[in-house]
Amino acid sequence: MAESADADLANIDATAGDVVSTAGSSTSNNNCRRRRRKSKNKKNGAKPETGSQSVAANGHRHDSFQKRRGSLGKAARDPRDEPPAKRSQFASRSDVATARAPSPVIASDGLSRPSWGTRLRLSETDEEKARRMDRMRGAVRTLLECIGENPDREGLLDTPSRYAKALMFLTEGYQTNVESLVNNALFHEGHNEMILVKNIEIHSLCEHHLVPFIGKMHIGYIPSNTVIGLSKLPRIAQMYARRLQIQERLTKEVANAIMEILKPQGVAVVMESSHLCMVMRGVEQTATSTVTSCVLGCFESKSKTRGEFFSLIGLNR
Ligand SMILES: [Zn+2]
Repeated sequence: MAESADADLANIDATAGDVVSTAGSSTSNNNCRRRRRKSKNKKNGAKPETGSQSVAANGHRHDSFQKRRGSLGKAARDPRDEPPAKRSQFASRSDVATARAPSPVIASDGLSRPSWGTRLRLSETDEEKARRMDRMRGAVRTLLECIGENPDREGLLDTPSRYAKALMFLTEGYQTNVESLVNNALFHEGHNEMILVKNIEIHSLCEHHLVPFIGKMHIGYIPSNTVIGLSKLPRIAQMYARRLQIQERLTKEVANAIMEILKPQGVAVVMESSHLCMVMRGVEQTATSTVTSCVLGCFESKSKTRGEFFSLIGLNR
C-alpha cells in the first residue's frame, strides 16, 4: 500500500496518547469469532423525539421525516443507508472491507449513524447555511433573554453568533465521513498481537443537558493481519465524541466502528470521564468518574485477553 501511509503509522498525533504494543502476547487467536456483547445500555439508545418540529434546521420541511416519525424509536436512518446496492468507495479500495455487509454502523456513503439532518448539513448551499446560522443565533438570543440577561449589552452582542459556530464545531462528527477519515491507512502487516492506544483525550457533549463530559479513552484491538494507522484511532474516537452523546453509546460506537473498519479479532474500548452535568449541577459530585467499557470479539470471548487489556490500562477486572 501507499508508502506515505507508513509515515502515518509512525507519526502519532501528540494527542493520541500512549501506545502500547504487546509482542509475545499469547492471547491472540485467529479463530476467535466476533461476538457482540448484549447491550447492557439498551435503554440508553436513541429515544423517540417528542417534539413536533418537522422543519429542518435550515428551514426546509422534510417529507421523509414525516413518514419516519412513527419509527423514531430507532435512530433516524436515511433511505440511502438501507442495504447498499453499490459497493462503497471504501470497500473497493481495500480488500479488508470488500466483504462488508449492510451495516448499522457505517452507511454506504461512509457516514456513521447518519440521519436526514446530517445529510442536510452536508448538502446545504451557502444560503441555507446562512439561514441555519440565523435560526441558531435567534435561539441563543432567546436563551439569553430567558435567563434574564440583556442580549444587547456589549459582552453578549456576539455571543449568539459565537455559540452557534461553536455548537456546529462541537457536533462536526455527525458529518464526518469515516472513509475519508481512515483514508486508506490500513496496512496488511501480518501483525496479530494486541495494540493499545491509551489516554486518548475526549471532549463530548452530554445529550441530556448539552453540557460537556471530559475524559480519557483507551482503545485496544487484536488485528487479523491488518492494522490501522495509529493516529486513526483517536480520530475515530473524536468523530464520535463530536456529537451529542452519552458515554455508554460513545464507548460502544467507537468499538463497533473499529470492528467494522478493520475486521480485527477483537476490540476493547474503555472510557473514564467526568460529567459536568453531575459536577456543576444535580448531585454536584466533583470527584466522581464514570467508567464504561465495550469488548467485542476475542476480548469478549476470552477472559485472558480481556484481563491482559484491563491490566495494561491499569484497571483490574
Ligand atoms: Zn447530562
